[in-house]
Amino acid sequence: MFDFLVVGAGFSGCVISERLAKNGKNVLLVEKRKHIGGNAYDFYNEDGILIHKYGPHIFHTKMKHVWDYLSQFTEWRFYQHRVYSYVDGRYIPFPISIETLKELYGYDFTPREFEEYLVNQREDISEPRNFEEVLLSTIGRDLYEKFYENYTKKQWDLSPSVLDPSVTKRIPIRYNRDTRYFSDPYQGVPKYGYTKLFESLLNNERIHVMLNTDYKDVVNEVRYKFMIYTGPIDYFFDYEIGKLPYRSLQFEFETLEIEEFQPVGTVNYPNDYDFTRITEFKHITGQISPKTTIAYEYPTSDGDPYYPVPTKPAHLLYERYKGKADSIKDIYFVGRLAEYRYYNMDQVVDRALKVAKEILDRDR
Ligand SMILES: Cc1cc2nc3c(=O)[nH]c(=O)nc-3n(C[C@H](O)[C@H](O)[C@H](O)COP(=O)(O)OP(=O)(O)OC[C@H]3O[C@@H](n4cnc5c(N)ncnc54)[C@H](O)[C@@H]3O)c2cc1C
Repeated sequence: MFDFLVVGAGFSGCVISERLAKNGKNVLLVEKRKHIGGNAYDFYNEDGILIHKYGPHIFHTKMKHVWDYLSQFTEWRFYQHRVYSYVDGRYIPFPISIETLKELYGYDFTPREFEEYLVNQREDISEPRNFEEVLLSTIGRDLYEKFYENYTKKQWDLSPSVLDPSVTKRIPIRYNRDTRYFSDPYQGVPKYGYTKLFESLLNNERIHVMLNTDYKDVVNEVRYKFMIYTGPIDYFFDYEIGKLPYRSLQFEFETLEIEEFQPVGTVNYPNDYDFTRITEFKHITGQISPKTTIAYEYPTSDGDPYYPVPTKPAHLLYERYKGKADSIKDIYFVGRLAEYRYYNMDQVVDRALKVAKEILDRDR
């Protein structure tokens, strides 16, 4: 008899399993893929290069308690991600900062001039109702068209005018010369890779891991008291009231016989080609090798569920599923698939720590 059946071995499932096992609970962790780590899984490919199978993952957080918690299980490589956007045939620093405009227009704005420039560019939209309007009222049409419009269309296969304004929360504008992609005080990647971090989280004899197993194939045969579910919420309910829309990605990996392919970890291609971006993993991992592996990302509507689609109808459907989930006792729905929400890794870890604490407090 297990105390907990945990479905899914991503950050949500692994952190909760670690916390529960550390506090004396027996956990069965069931994962349908052939590996642990969820979308943060990494591995050495046949050319000996450490790659992120489901796209580049950079850990960044403002939450010291999350950083400290994970630091018990890994050392860090203090990496700070930089991204260029390939615009008008040139590499331009992204997100938009003073350096972006310097590269784009050949003029070195002071912070005040930069702000004035943006104010002049802005369209007068007092209450933006969608992603397009948020951007037009923040950076104006020129920058919107150069950096966002086509990228967003490729990414979502939807016009920015039908996307929720909340999409922009992840895309900061910098009123300074900081060209780092993230500005959080804690940033990096696990020194020996994410998979090693997950192995360390699960290194407890009270945790039993079952890979290659859809939980529905075993749920009636296993005895357990509570379930933590981190898979897709609509799948849990057998798509009873419809399928939640997701955007997926197809990755094309290529190993080249050169040391470096591009100057930074990721280059976005908003206006050229069908892929949205190219990542070169060695920048992120710091690995030294005469070869390098890159990944092209092609957004698709089929494939693994990656990004919840930020539209009103999708949100409303999720709310109906949530209503059903809330009425089930003894099952906790946690994580980006179960809560149909774009969570960064630190947010997922924070959420998992809170849920584990709530469960353990209730048990006392
Ligand atoms: C391309 C991409 C890049 C990203 N980059 C970053 C980044 O740079 N920084 C950052 O902070 N975040 C990033 N993220 C977000 C990050 O991946 C998530 O925050 C994190 O993976 C969420 O963890 P999770 O455990 O909730 O979900 P997941 O990692 O998806 O784990 C859920 C697990 O449940 C399993 N599962 C599903 N259904 C079943 C079932 N029926 N039975 C058994 N198992 C099941 C899945 O196989 C999966 O392993 C990125 C996401 C993507 C898609």
